[in-house]
Amino acid sequence: MSIAEQAEADLRELMSIPDNYQVLFLQGGASAQFSLIPMNLLRGAKQADYINTGAWSKKAIAAAEAFCTVNIAASSEESNFTTIPAFASWQLGQGAGYVHYTANETIGGVEFHWIPDTGDKPLVADMSSTMLSRPLDVSRYGLIYAGAQKNIGPAGLTLVIVRDDLLGKVHPLTPSVFDYKVQADADSMSNTPPTFAWYLTGLVLQWLKSQGGLSSISDTNNRKAKKLYTAIDGSGYYANPVEEQSRSWMNVPFTLAEPELDKTFLAEAEAAGMVALKGHRSVGGMRASIYNAMPEEGVDTLVAFMQEFERTHG
Ligand code: PMP
Repeated sequence: MSIAEQAEADLRELMSIPDNYQVLFLQGGASAQFSLIPMNLLRGAKQADYINTGAWSKKAIAAAEAFCTVNIAASSEESNFTTIPAFASWQLGQGAGYVHYTANETIGGVEFHWIPDTGDKPLVADMSSTMLSRPLDVSRYGLIYAGAQKNIGPAGLTLVIVRDDLLGKVHPLTPSVFDYKVQADADSMSNTPPTFAWYLTGLVLQWLKSQGGLSSISDTNNRKAKKLYTAIDGSGYYANPVEEQSRSWMNVPFTLAEPELDKTFLAEAEAAGMVALKGHRSVGGMRASIYNAMPEEGVDTLVAFMQEFERTHG
């Protein structure tokens, strides 16, 4: 109990979570939330607004379609998901129960660096691959959720931060362990929680505090991302397709001028101690995921390797 309480207190402190928000430590991954959000948040509404910015938005949309009419209020599919639709172009539906967007598209490397203003309509964000990367004004949201396994802790834990007034009007078929109010009333222990993942998450939160909290980690993340994008843009050999103002700080996809050298790049990178650089199969090329746990020296090492690879193979 003390581990659970400390983890919640540390998360509340790190993110300055207002008192009228519940913090839930759940299971099922962010993918389960794709269904639990409509089940919990429609509250009788027949429609929800979704912004389509890539692979993870699409999965969230597909899951919501089982529960309501999904209004795609904006989409960047036309740009092959290399942009974020300007807020002025969003066509929000009148009767929508909430507005959902994916704050960081992990596969495409596209990130919102601004918070949409949806007025009275609860704003819901999938923050799986960006939560805890920087400070966030939680009060702008109805609900934030994230699978833990990027910046938060090990797989198996899913965080949900939800405003009190949205709880208690679930779809009648919602299993009770997936009813946010039931879990909130039970301190996320209405059934056996993922104890070890919760414990390790507590350690990560303490580490984050020891690093100086979110403004400090944000400075580091910003520097890491800038270094990598600067190296890519300055090379003429590597390329990143995402518009500059929507580039992810966490996931940096890049391609080589000669894709036939992808395998050589990956093999030489691995031999030099750099692993997991292969891009998602839907995008190809490389992807450097530079989450909180990746130190700045890791990015420096990658940049030096990329420059050397270009010099010897380019
Ligand atoms: N949303 C985003 C943005 C993700 O990156 C992921 C996982 N990579 C998911 C959802 C799905 O998370 P999970 O595997 O925890 O269900």
